[in-house]
Formats: sequence, C-alpha cells, structure tokens
Amino acid sequence: MAEAQTEEKRTGGCRCGGVRYELRGKPLWVAHCHCRDCRRSTGAPFLTWSGWRPEAVSWTTIAPAPYRSSQGVTRSFCPACGTPIAFTGERWPNEIHVLVGTLDDPGSLEPRAHTYWSEKLPFIHIADKLKKFAKTPKEGGPLPE
Ligand SMILES: [Zn+2]
Ligand SMILES: [Zn+2]
Repeated sequence: MAEAQTEEKRTGGCRCGGVRYELRGKPLWVAHCHCRDCRRSTGAPFLTWSGWRPEAVSWTTIAPAPYRSSQGVTRSFCPACGTPIAFTGERWPNEIHVLVGTLDDPGSLEPRAHTYWSEKLPFIHIADKLKKFAKTPKEGGPLPE
C-alpha cells in the first residue's frame, strides 16, 4: 500500500489576528532581503521572505490591504494593526512572497540566501555560510532552492 502523502501546512497572520493565512506545501525559496525598499516598508533592518505559488496561499480571514509601493510592486499589510505581510511584483508574476516573521512557526523554514547584500546596513554582522547576492541571483529570476 502506498503511504498517504500528507501535505505540509503552515499558518500565520498579523499582530492583531485580523489577517490570517494558510500556506500549503513547500515554499519555492526562502531568503533574507536587505534592500532599502523592504527596510522603508517595515522599519526592520532586513527581512526574511518566503516565495509561494498563488494557489498555495489562502487568506482564511480577510486578505491584507494592498499598497502600490513602486511601479509593478504591491506590498500588503493588515488594515487594522499595520503588520506587513506579503509582496507581489511583476518580476515574479506567479509568486506571492510572504514575510517569514508572520508565520506561527517561523523557525520551520530555512533561509537559503541573502539578497540585496549590497544594501545591507553596516551594523548588521552575519556569519552564516549562505550565498550573498549583491541584488538577486539573476535580476528578475527566482532564487535558488
Ligand atoms: Zn492585524
Ligand atoms: Zn527587499
């Protein structure tokens, strides 16, 4: 008898619980981002993102509110408490990027790379062995698994 495949499921949401989501399966990639845009959008020195196919993401309460942060880029957040949650961009047409810090179990995902290392703040000192890309591995392309 074939073993039943149980699909991985993760849940998460914003600070107030107004926005909740479910993520099914494995992420396409997980990576830190040190870009100025992420920093300005959240106030954090850098962020950790996970990439998902749109069909793997369900908003189980309300969808986060969209903010068009730059040409072709939408960042979304909880309209009640302001927690940044997700990102979509024309450069990644078939992906939703979800902030790992909003997962109920953020430690269950393993980042594979640093992106926009060229914009990293000088007081951030990171000694991990992950790949460090000046911007992204290939402008517009996906990150390595
Ligand atoms: Zn909220
Ligand atoms: Zn960024």
